[in-house]
Amino acid sequence: MAPDWSFRKNMTPTPYNPFHTAQAQVDAATERLGLERSMRELLRWPMFETQFRLPVRMDNGTMEVFQGYRVRYNAARGPTKGGLRWHPDETLDTVRALACWMTWKCAVLDLPLGGGKGGVTCTPAALSEGEKERLARAYIRAVGHQLSVDRDVPAPDVNTTPQIMAWMMDEFETLVGRHHAGVITGKPLPLGGSRGRSNATSVGGLYVARAVENLLGHKLTGARCAIQGFGNVGGGLAELLHEAGAKVIAVSAVDGAIYNENGLDIPAALKHYARNRQEIGGFEGGDAISNEQLLTCDCDWLFPAALENVIHEQNAADIKAPVVIEMANGPTSTAADRILHERGILVVPDILANAGGVTVSYFEQVQNTYNYYWSLEQVHAELARRMHDAFDAVHAEHQRVPGPMRLAAYMLSVERVAEACRLRGWV
Ligand code: GLU
Repeated sequence: MAPDWSFRKNMTPTPYNPFHTAQAQVDAATERLGLERSMRELLRWPMFETQFRLPVRMDNGTMEVFQGYRVRYNAARGPTKGGLRWHPDETLDTVRALACWMTWKCAVLDLPLGGGKGGVTCTPAALSEGEKERLARAYIRAVGHQLSVDRDVPAPDVNTTPQIMAWMMDEFETLVGRHHAGVITGKPLPLGGSRGRSNATSVGGLYVARAVENLLGHKLTGARCAIQGFGNVGGGLAELLHEAGAKVIAVSAVDGAIYNENGLDIPAALKHYARNRQEIGGFEGGDAISNEQLLTCDCDWLFPAALENVIHEQNAADIKAPVVIEMANGPTSTAADRILHERGILVVPDILANAGGVTVSYFEQVQNTYNYYWSLEQVHAELARRMHDAFDAVHAEHQRVPGPMRLAAYMLSVERVAEACRLRGWV
């Protein structure tokens, strides 16, 4: 066996490392494509990465020092693009994994962008609004010199909001002394945000579900859907599925899940969640179940819409949904992927299913650059076209190449990135 030199590259020795999953996914595609050794090596590591300490004044007068990251995984196809996640478990490797996935996501959608990601290790629920603002501004003071519309463009992700994007843009523009709205996306509308950005990931997910319905014959109207996660993506999707006539039978938040086999009253559940500081417990329109029970409940469609590694070796054999649409980044481990595929479960991979967010972020950058703004109808028409084209391309590849749909999506996107690297003379 080859020696494991990964410690030389600061890999985190955690029991589950999402970057290992990301690298395994890249390896499967580069091997299948028969890419040359140097190209394989180039594509399985980030090209640029930064870590920094962020001293922030707390409301009680003390200083707290946070750890921040920004990884630019691959910039061959364009400026790197990807969100900022604030989470207690954030490490360099979680950010690397997410930046890696952004690279293939942008390429599957054929956006002229590379992949990047950033993060801060912190507990957002424990921070006041003022502390969040000071953390956001400290982040830009640390890494702002590396950002620009033609280099690297952050956006929201788990626990970061349009307001946080607004503070970051303001800090950046104050530092450089001019307007530069396209330096960050997911901004509020009055500061150059795009119409349709706030629920774009969920809207894109619905388009993907409709494409699965039309091309692969899984009915959506009246179907029983379970959604793991009730935040921006999961909550938005629950609303859209409910409106589209699907029966959302289970949703979950960090504190647990609720289940109602006749379908949940989603507008009421969303109100309860907003009123109870992002908790679903105590909602009276359903029975309390655990997150684990939600994942393995009897349903027609499962939408994991929270964090990585929720479908793993221990529960993959118990998943009952014939279709899994990955709205989160990296919800399925490599071992689980194999099990689901062997069981004939269709998994629409994250890099396709949740690409609606970055696609509208791209539209936001375009609008910022020519300083002219689109209607919501125009955003949705462009988003639908991009998502359908990407779905059709992945579907065609999936029919050509035996294996999971993820492999097909990776082969398509890895080949696109590899071609750009080759043309640049990088290998
Ligand atoms: N955080 C989102 C994602 O994982 C959106 C990224 C963006 O808009 O740049 O795709």
